Amino acid sequence: MTPVIALLGRPNVGKSTLFNRLTRSRDALVADFPGVTRDRLVGAGRLGERPFWVVDTGGMLGEDPELSGKVSAQALMAAQEADAVILVVDGRGGLTADDRSIANTLRGLGQPVWLAVNKAEHLDTELVRADFFELGLGDPWPISSSHGHGVADLLETVLAGF
Ligand code: GDP
Ligand code: MG
Repeated sequence: MTPVIALLGRPNVGKSTLFNRLTRSRDALVADFPGVTRDRLVGAGRLGERPFWVVDTGGMLGEDPELSGKVSAQALMAAQEADAVILVVDGRGGLTADDRSIANTLRGLGQPVWLAVNKAEHLDTELVRADFFELGLGDPWPISSSHGHGVADLLETVLAGF
């Protein structure tokens, strides 16, 4: 089974940057994924020998104005259909009410969820962990999607469950 990993999070935290980093090392294949009810951006990634699918959420169909900043119906569906979810938050901006709201929703899904604290390239790892631990999603993973820091370690951990 090739696991499907969905990227969730409020706008501008870096989901698409992470998606691009996870997919571009291959041929950045972006395909319709069978079984989904609406279009969404799915790409093929690989960590060493291990292939995975990654699903970007948000921005493809326009943000739902009613739900902007929280989990849109589209993103929620992507999370439910995935095998694992990565909640992406912005480490520079700090924790927001919308992050809490999204985390609460995701904790209720019964899916494995990992917390990626993005834009952490200049941040103190221990402070990041302390700041975001309260989301209740286990140890926060500081990453930098634009620089690549921490991304492979996180993926290795996510994929180890499958
Ligand atoms: P999305 O709305 O969650 O898909 O976020 P985007 O991927 O479009 O990124 C939003 C902004 O954050 C862009 O200006 C990115 O260049 C920037 N960004 C993404 N990842 C990082 C990162 O690791 N570090 C920094 N400093 N900026 C980042
Ligand atoms: Mg995006």
